[in-house]
Amino acid sequence: MKNTQRRAAILAEVSASQGPVSAEEIFQRLQERFPTLALSTVYRNLERFAEDGLVEKETSPDGVFRYAGKDDHGHYLVCTQCHSRVRLHECPLSAMEEKLEEETGFSIDRHQLTLYGICPACKEREK
Ligand SMILES: [Zn+2]
Ligand SMILES: [Zn+2]
Repeated sequence: MKNTQRRAAILAEVSASQGPVSAEEIFQRLQERFPTLALSTVYRNLERFAEDGLVEKETSPDGVFRYAGKDDHGHYLVCTQCHSRVRLHECPLSAMEEKLEEETGFSIDRHQLTLYGICPACKEREK
C-alpha cells in the first residue's frame, strides 16, 4: 500500500467527520479498509496535516488531541497560555445572522468566532 493512499484516506476521514475526531477514532474507522495501518502512522499524518494547515488540531480538557477539517464550522475557546482549544457545541451567531441580514441587506455566508482566555488547568497552575 502506498503512503499517499493512506494519507488521502486519513485526510478524507477527518473531513467526512461531523466534528473533531481523535487519532484512535480515525484508526478504528480505517482498520477494515487498511488492515496493516498502524496507529502511529495515523498520529504522524494528522500531525503533519495540522502543521501544513490542512486540519485544525485541538486539545480537549481530557487531554486528548482531536482534529477537524478546515471547512468544519466550529467555534473555540482558546487558552492564551497553553494554546489548548475547546470547541463550543453550539453556534451562538446563527440567530444573529438572520437579524443582521434583515437589518443590513447583506447575504451572510460565513463567520468566525474565537474566544480567548485562560483555561482551568492553567488557572490551577497559577494558584
Ligand atoms: Zn491553558
Ligand atoms: Zn457559527
